[in-house]
Amino acid sequence: MNYAWAGATHLGRVRTNNEDAFEPTADGVSSGPVVLAVADGMGGHVAGEVASRLAIDAAMSAKGSARERILAGNDRVVEAVVADPSLAGMGTTLTLVVLGADGELDLAHIGDSRAYQLRAGDLLQITSDHTLVAELVAEGRLDPKEVRAHPQRNLLTRVIGMGKQIEVEEFSDSAHDGDRLLLCSDGLSAMVDDPEIAELLAAATPEEAVWTLVEAANRAGGEDNVTVIVVDVTA
Ligand code: MG
Repeated sequence: MNYAWAGATHLGRVRTNNEDAFEPTADGVSSGPVVLAVADGMGGHVAGEVASRLAIDAAMSAKGSARERILAGNDRVVEAVVADPSLAGMGTTLTLVVLGADGELDLAHIGDSRAYQLRAGDLLQITSDHTLVAELVAEGRLDPKEVRAHPQRNLLTRVIGMGKQIEVEEFSDSAHDGDRLLLCSDGLSAMVDDPEIAELLAAATPEEAVWTLVEAANRAGGEDNVTVIVVDVTA
């Protein structure tokens, strides 16, 4: 398989620092394997930036499956808090995909960043949001239309850095010729709804799609840092 990707992060229009991180930061092409990841940190002062950077660096340099890489990211964040208690409470989302030479798609995920797959014109969110509101919606206790205004919409139920034991969500698939993948932080998905994401994701190249999506998030208010990676799959 051949993979061509582009990525970008933007501060947005409200925040004063960017707590998101992503890799690889350079656009590129590869026949695989290739590892791509988005992290969205949280914590007081600079701790959010520290958490997302530590987790993503550990995950990218780890060996093995997407799940093993996420666990390495978690270990690194937990160890950093032990070493420097002023960082206590920091955490990060981490959504990571390993794309193999034969099209194997191995994804692992914690938090409310997202992965989507655009296949034959259909957009599918392949991660679930580890948030209180997503759980309430899944249980039929909250109308999806009420999520955006919910006072606890940002409350995460799973996050890197919470403790030594974390429950990692996993997804595996075979990438198809013509697939396009999107990894993003909630700075995109909270500002732009899925039908519009699908429309904008259909831009000509990964680079054009990335910037079209970032601009859409900012046009909608840019209330959070926004990070987007788009990957094209060709046989
Ligand atoms: Mg965010």
